[in-house]
Amino acid sequence: MAILKTQAFVLKRYDLRETSLLVNFYTRDFGKLTGEMKGIRKDPRKFASTVDSFSLNEIVFYQRRNSSVHLISQCDSCEHFGPLRESIPKIAAATVMMDLLDAVMPPEDKNPEIFDLTRDVLTALCTARDFDKLLTIFKIRVLSLSGFKPHLDSCVICGRKVFMQCKFSLKLGGLLCPHCLARDVQGRTIFRGTVATIMHIEKNTVGANLTLGMNPQIKRELEAVLNAFLHFHVGKELKSQRVMQSLEQAGAFT
Ligand SMILES: [Zn+2]
Repeated sequence: MAILKTQAFVLKRYDLRETSLLVNFYTRDFGKLTGEMKGIRKDPRKFASTVDSFSLNEIVFYQRRNSSVHLISQCDSCEHFGPLRESIPKIAAATVMMDLLDAVMPPEDKNPEIFDLTRDVLTALCTARDFDKLLTIFKIRVLSLSGFKPHLDSCVICGRKVFMQCKFSLKLGGLLCPHCLARDVQGRTIFRGTVATIMHIEKNTVGANLTLGMNPQIKRELEAVLNAFLHFHVGKELKSQRVMQSLEQAGAFT
């Protein structure tokens, strides 16, 4: 068994047997991986970290060759993102981020750009007010960096530039020009402003995107299109996303 060390976000944790925890981490050097933390529920001080959701830790683990569950021998807290834990909407946004990584990223597939993006967005959430804009930025950039990037610069079928009214096809993963609309009758109308916003966010850093203005119409449409696109690719709706919407409708974010 090789002994390895890396930085890791806590995505999800499950109780295992009487005393242990099973934790899904998103790591900088190995992508998403599952680790067993033996004895932590019996002795919470066995590890230096409290292993809270969306905290950043340094983990040492034994890589098992014949199992996808590795044995964690050390877990030290690096960043707890304390200020964001004081706000319910921000906790809800960070939880959606972790669920998204857990659902979309394949196991043990390294992607340091997504790791750095996650750290940058969680750091920005500690101070920025626009938690919903940061979550939108995170979703668009994760899609773009993980191979689910929607085809938006031309028609996904014929390659023609699309200038005027166009539709977005979930199943074809891109825009349809007026000549190709019949290829997916379920294509949904999308504003050019929404397309331009997605393309801008794909190309820019988190900091630069935070200053981007979004009118309420584009914001609503972006949210609907992104959630439908993610739902289509993940095959299910993220539970945390539904919880976030219910909290918002109940007025918890105002
Ligand atoms: Zn076309």
